[in-house]
Amino acid sequence: MIIIMKTDASKIDIEKLKSKLEGLGFRVNESGENRCVLGLIGDTASINIGQIEANIAVDRVMRVTDPFKRANRLFHADNTIVDVSGNLIGGKKIVLMAGPCSVESEEQILTIAEAVKKSGATFLRGGAFKPRTSPYSFQGLKGEGIRLLKLAREKTGLPIVSEIMSTELVEKVAEDVDILQIGARNMQNYELLKEVGKTRRPVLLKRGLSATIEEFLMSAEYIMSEGNENVILCERGIRTFEPYTRNTLDISVIPAIKRLSHLPIIIDPSHAAGKWWMVEALSKAAVAAGADGLIIEVHNDPENAWSDGEESLKPEKFDALTKKLRQIAIIEDREI
Ligand code: PEP
Ligand code: MN
Repeated sequence: MIIIMKTDASKIDIEKLKSKLEGLGFRVNESGENRCVLGLIGDTASINIGQIEANIAVDRVMRVTDPFKRANRLFHADNTIVDVSGNLIGGKKIVLMAGPCSVESEEQILTIAEAVKKSGATFLRGGAFKPRTSPYSFQGLKGEGIRLLKLAREKTGLPIVSEIMSTELVEKVAEDVDILQIGARNMQNYELLKEVGKTRRPVLLKRGLSATIEEFLMSAEYIMSEGNENVILCERGIRTFEPYTRNTLDISVIPAIKRLSHLPIIIDPSHAAGKWWMVEALSKAAVAAGADGLIIEVHNDPENAWSDGEESLKPEKFDALTKKLRQIAIIEDREI
């Protein structure tokens, strides 16, 4: 339920109402720039709307039927801008995250980090704990991979994004990385979501392989309900009947999320396509459709990559792509 206060409601009126509602056991979320909007979280079925509307400082009361509350734009009209050590996600600037699927060696990650930085990437991605379809495939360098990412951050200044798969490691890895990534396969691992929700580290939440938009937002809700509001949503393609591409990029999720939620949304064209030569087209479409950023796999030697070489761009291709994306961003009144 949301309570829209009158434009002239005083701070005292608002505080009085808030504490009354909190006394009834509700969590109250305050938002709004020109007028105050109170979002009530809890079982509001028993609330008498007429009684609240009788308060002279209240303009209107509306029931929110969506199951996601904190992630709902009704609770938070303005876009959320996630601040990652001074790099803003969700504002005018479209962020570029780039790097290899997996961290393989010091030389590999440093070479790629320097290259993507030169092309204008503002975040370095790299997998250390890898969720592979086969248990016999390379599972990531794990702790050593995180150490190498930190080294690359030290050398380039790029904040680092890396996936976490187990609840036990959340606290430790949250200290090491700038953004914790929750992979598509773990989008509904609720224990993991709650654990990252207990940290204050920004979380890059990838959409599950066959998750609906509502399920996607409910996963964000899990993180936010633990107090971590720094959630960045990421569409990475969903499973459809089409086997030609690895997944099907759902471009429509961008305007849908923008309408339903205040959270930033970025696009991963690499895992969506599964083919490097499609990454340019999908990236351009994402920027034109209003994405807040892109996360792109880049490898200096894709033919010999330890994972996902087939969908990785060479640094020169990534560089050429960023130049085209800058042009599209201008049309959208954004910057890269
Ligand atoms: C990844 O980013 O390397 C990855 C495994 O992505 P996803 O969870 O989207 O498959
Ligand atoms: Mn990958």
